[in-house]
Amino acid sequence: MTATPCDLLVHSTSAVLTMAGGPPGPLAGKRQGETAPVAGGAVACAGGKVLEVGPGDALRRKYAPRRELDARGGCVIPGLVDAHTHLVFAGDRAEEFERRCLGASYREIAAGGGGILSSVRAFRAATDAAILEKARGLRHSALLHGTTTVEVKSGYGLSLEQELRALQIAARLDDRGDVVPTFLGAHAVPPEYAGRAGEYARLVAETMVPEVARRGLARFCDVFCEAGYFDAAQSRLVLEAARAAGLGLRLHADELSACGGAELAAELRCASADHLLEATDAGIRALAASGVVAVLLPATSFFLGMGKFAPARRMIEAGVPIALATDCNPGSSMTENLQQAIAVGCIGLRLSAAEAMVAATRNAACSLGLGGEVGSLAPGMRADLVVLDAPDPRDLAYHHGVNHAAAVVHHGDIVGEEE
Ligand SMILES: [Zn+2]
Repeated sequence: MTATPCDLLVHSTSAVLTMAGGPPGPLAGKRQGETAPVAGGAVACAGGKVLEVGPGDALRRKYAPRRELDARGGCVIPGLVDAHTHLVFAGDRAEEFERRCLGASYREIAAGGGGILSSVRAFRAATDAAILEKARGLRHSALLHGTTTVEVKSGYGLSLEQELRALQIAARLDDRGDVVPTFLGAHAVPPEYAGRAGEYARLVAETMVPEVARRGLARFCDVFCEAGYFDAAQSRLVLEAARAAGLGLRLHADELSACGGAELAAELRCASADHLLEATDAGIRALAASGVVAVLLPATSFFLGMGKFAPARRMIEAGVPIALATDCNPGSSMTENLQQAIAVGCIGLRLSAAEAMVAATRNAACSLGLGGEVGSLAPGMRADLVVLDAPDPRDLAYHHGVNHAAAVVHHGDIVGEEE
């Protein structure tokens, strides 16, 4: 029998966690931790896609690979999917970070002109080149930490012109179709509209959303639904306009206060409801009933020193599928490392490593409408995977604060060795 040619064979693994079992869509409840492992597995790839996942011995006999990647006994997982970032920003908020470390609250800082609005000033003053260079640096660093797909929000421009600029920069960040752009014009009320949130929300809904959609610059629209930002009625106005314009919906919901965000996300059947620290039991039940993915951001709780995390166990018990993301942004989560969010998520959200890994791969992909392309390893899926430096995948959470990616494969290419 002649061997079948393929581009790449990843072999000598402890296991391949395929995340490919169970019914289609995100995994919830008891299934949240189903990693669907193939012990001693191998992955054959061709044309940037997965050809086959199976027992290592059988695949090594079956295939004649052009290249091989020896996992040296490490575990293989799908490429990580970061479903919530604000990567396109200017400047930094290191001083604000230090003030918070020394006792100031996030709300106090925002009230004094810091917070999101300080990033808005920096964004408006920065050149495209400077913003793009910073975003590219973070994107590349994320890739080296195993993140192969990333959602990127606008939201530091807060005018039509500046928000279009943010989305155009996000588009330039995307050279291989792995950046999912989200329009977040309703991230905060810009200084020009101080005290007139309703008027600004109408501008976003009636002018910005249609223009963003017309130019094809975003796949999703998001709103920061929070006291002092946009209330549920204003959030609804923006999201309904976005739906009418053909955009998918996401929502920053119930982060600092219970303001009906989870209930609104459920009613509008948003693709995701994000943060959810203060989500009520009724909100959680509504999310479960409507199939919304809860995108939890434990690195933000950690970074803000909130001493509190989203009620993930109650969500899992209620059957809400959980995804994890970094929330990478200069003010409330300055990390592009999704492995760190997994570790902090296990500790703070009380997840098993398996639940956290499903959350950061398959469920995150499903929340972006990409569950059929990335986030699991099965024939036809994109050949995005991470070879961990340890046989036990629990090391991702247990041995925290270091990069466990011994190798990253992206579109079938080994990162750092693209031809
Ligand atoms: Zn956010």
